[in-house]
Amino acid sequence: MTFEYQYRRASGSLWDGAQKALDDFNARYTEAQDLFKGSGPDDPDAADALLNKFAFRRDGTAPSFPDTPFYEWMTNAFNVGDTHDIDAFRPDGPLVMSVIEGKLEVDLFLRALDQYRDALEALVRKAAPEHFSYQGFKIHNPDRLGEPKCRDLFEGIDYLVALFKKRGVYPLLKTGVRGIEFLAKPSMEKLNATALGLYYWNTKTIVISSHVIGYGEGRFMKWVNEAFLHEFGHFVHLNYLPREAKEAWDAGWVEVNQKQEELSTLSKITAVERARFFDALVFTKFDPSKASKRLKPIERLKFGAWLRSPMTGDPLITPKQFRWTGPGVNLATFYTDRESFMKKNYDWIEVGSDEYNKQIERKDKQFKDKLGLDWDQPLSIPAATVRELLDADPSLKKSVADALNKLEIVSDYGRTNEKEDFAETFVAFMGAPAKLTPTAKFRMQRVLSLANFYNKPVMRLAENDSLAHQVVNRYLHARNQ
Ligand SMILES: [Zn+2]
Repeated sequence: MTFEYQYRRASGSLWDGAQKALDDFNARYTEAQDLFKGSGPDDPDAADALLNKFAFRRDGTAPSFPDTPFYEWMTNAFNVGDTHDIDAFRPDGPLVMSVIEGKLEVDLFLRALDQYRDALEALVRKAAPEHFSYQGFKIHNPDRLGEPKCRDLFEGIDYLVALFKKRGVYPLLKTGVRGIEFLAKPSMEKLNATALGLYYWNTKTIVISSHVIGYGEGRFMKWVNEAFLHEFGHFVHLNYLPREAKEAWDAGWVEVNQKQEELSTLSKITAVERARFFDALVFTKFDPSKASKRLKPIERLKFGAWLRSPMTGDPLITPKQFRWTGPGVNLATFYTDRESFMKKNYDWIEVGSDEYNKQIERKDKQFKDKLGLDWDQPLSIPAATVRELLDADPSLKKSVADALNKLEIVSDYGRTNEKEDFAETFVAFMGAPAKLTPTAKFRMQRVLSLANFYNKPVMRLAENDSLAHQVVNRYLHARNQ
């Protein structure tokens, strides 16, 4: 009469570990019964064997049994109240000690063990099956979450179904979601440490971590509802939107990405940039101050860094201004007044001779090397200099923030990228439209109407929501002016 738990093994799941622990518990349970068959363990060896069997220590403290993986499964698959009985029935150290010391009949101990086994079995029976369906969705439950936990997660599915029916877009929900997978912990291989959900576009599966239950209220609604709706938003963005609608959404991010790109390229001066800087010097007859004014703010900072940290030799301009230093004057003179330069530095060479021309060639190469003009690799700017540049011009960092602010994204997480922006905005648009600014609402509305989101429903949405409707009109009005 061993413990029964005949279920298909889902490899790598918490349930998998729990099953191994239960196997081990069964083995020990059988051995304990054999050990106590007939007489009590007045034999000290038998007493020791019992202690070892259940890993009890002589001080009466009891380790957990079944083994830790069972407890890991149990605490993740059930709520605290559901597992209460298990702890109440578990034979503890003092109980085992009293058997060993002959104060308790062996039969009583075995009966206590039976009760414990029954409690375990009752709990495992409350584990929901690995596969079942709910609201017409296939549910995969590899961790064998218990029924109460599953019911908590069903709330999110119920919410989705009710919401999409209310909005008249229920068929879209069925198109986007073929299956739903429940996972016990966000740290399971499929989810990273902080993720509560995932959308697999190839299998049309929403993966949800049961930890979302404990999060309570979210930004727009309960977290469990938000998590489902957010993942569905990824489906709409990545799979449902026709190309022009997706492009319209992503276009909002072009400026953000551009500013981010500018910020990240700040630490490098490319060959193209160096050539452009040199052209600017040539154009202004080697006046670095005038040349700098021909450049955009970020380029200007790089231009300064380029002249202050040439590839060889001393700085060519002063630390704070675009003014030549001695070596800088030397270089500028070479390119603007070659005769004076040669006279000053090489007055012993006959003007116009082969030697004279060769010397000019050599000097030209030397200066171009100094400026990295004959090199095709990007030139790195030291991190400290980059920081200085950023401090000198906070507008660089600000430009990214400004570009993001223009989008009026509904949550901080939405500011991650255009995908999360869409998912987050979709959640608010569908479930809490009042949280969106008119601009944010318009962005979503425009994209969804481009997508002809199930024919008329979006229009219906807009009509029902008088504020949104006004906003659209206001926008169209403004754009036509
Ligand atoms: Zn997401």
